Amino acid sequence: GNAEPIDLSAEEGGEDVPGGGLLPVLAIVGRPNVGKSTLVNRILGRREAVVQDVPGVTRDRVSYEANWSGRRFMVMDTGGWEVDVAGLDKRVAEQAEIAVELADAVLFVVDATVGLTDTDEAFVRVLRRSKKPVVLVANKVDNPQLEAEAAALWNLGLGEPHPVSAMHGRGAGDMLDAIFEALPKQPPAETFGTPLGGPRRVALVGKPNVGKSSLLNRLAGEYRVVVDSTAGTTRDPVDEMVELGGKTWRFVDTAGIRRRVHHTFGADYYASLRTAAAIEKAEVAVVLIDVSETLAEQDLRIISKVAESGRALVIAYNKWDKLDDERRYYLEREIEQELVQVQWAPRVNISASTGRHVEKLVPAIETALQGWETRISTGKLNAFLGTLVAEHPHPVRGGKQPRILFGTQPSAKPPRFVLFASGFLEAGYRRFIERRLREEFGFAGTPIEISVRVRE
Ligand code: GDP
Ligand code: GDP
Repeated sequence: GNAEPIDLSAEEGGEDVPGGGLLPVLAIVGRPNVGKSTLVNRILGRREAVVQDVPGVTRDRVSYEANWSGRRFMVMDTGGWEVDVAGLDKRVAEQAEIAVELADAVLFVVDATVGLTDTDEAFVRVLRRSKKPVVLVANKVDNPQLEAEAAALWNLGLGEPHPVSAMHGRGAGDMLDAIFEALPKQPPAETFGTPLGGPRRVALVGKPNVGKSSLLNRLAGEYRVVVDSTAGTTRDPVDEMVELGGKTWRFVDTAGIRRRVHHTFGADYYASLRTAAAIEKAEVAVVLIDVSETLAEQDLRIISKVAESGRALVIAYNKWDKLDDERRYYLEREIEQELVQVQWAPRVNISASTGRHVEKLVPAIETALQGWETRISTGKLNAFLGTLVAEHPHPVRGGKQPRILFGTQPSAKPPRFVLFASGFLEAGYRRFIERRLREEFGFAGTPIEISVRVRE
């Protein structure tokens, strides 16, 4: 069973390609022995026999790039994830769910010589619910006599069944046409980020009096443009466009910054609501800390909120002009002790009043956004995981040693990883993986999510 729920909020399927675009992903699902591997080879245009990999950390040949006269897409062979046949029905639904989560379209393979089985029906239920485009293939239709069997699959309600012989190539052309029809024409759209290539969204947050409005004034100067994000309404203008480092940035909810929060009943509550809303609207949050005061619970809460919301994070230590040697000593210790979990966040030491090092803010924001958007290809990730697990295997627990079978990064902003493992991975080991991922690939300024899917 699953030790942890998989994060189903992943917005995109896709693989890295040079140039930064994304290739659409086609997942091949179906019962064992229906001919998935044979079909994968057919789609890839290869003749060689598929090696039955022993499932393990070294296998990263699960996604392959297909190229048909310039149309490229990734083929994901979920059949390789079948560890054994015991408990197959449970695993079938799981396999289909994974495919549905990661893929842009699904190729569902049925063996026409066998006809429909209960296991096939289990797949169908998951696929129907998913609303992903499905190409239905009746395989092993080696001769025209078998086409009648294929036609019976219309009943499934998954559209036209495509009779194919993966072995001989029969019907492969029509099947490919259907695949191209099902796959998105454009690389999968980023559902979150900068729609229409608009300015990046930045939130300036921090507890009252840390210097948010001072910093905003310093950054924006007199050349600020107030934008009303809800055009046509009488609501407050909420965002401001600010030009910095040759680029326009959208500072979200600046109305909330400029309005002085009076210390009336409930003021803190509304301030924290505003902070939360600004973080949600932003891609990157700059959390201001007043270095002249002891690090407060509220500072830590705001920082955690940014990380939990999956936004890029920059920490700006403000009022640096007020820092003396003694306070500085304690500040460094506070940071070391209380902010270890966000060591990855770029840090700037600034003074909004004097302007000290304020120019370092934009490069820090850019670094954080870059980490936030980083995407590691499945091949690279599995090569990395293979080495990591070989050198530092998970400790043996109760005579068992959980192994990582396969990993993938279904989405970025922030980077999300899904690891398929043969047993539960301890928190310590997952932190170790996160640390090594950061050492290997950067990810400065971004939280990373790692979900583990256990396949016993
Ligand atoms: P998978 O477990 O779904 O990946 O299935 P495989 O690709 O390993 O194929 C299972 C068996 O079916 C193998 O013996 C294949 O040679 C055979 N097979 C695959 N496609 C066809 C086909 O189109 N026609 C026939 N007759 N056999 C096929
Ligand atoms: P906000 O509530 O976070 O918007 O904070 P403000 O920008 O209103 O600043 C609160 C107080 O701190 C004001 O009196 C500012 O002048 C002062 N302040 C802000 N930044 C600095 C700084 O870098 N150095 C010093 N010494 N004071 C600052």
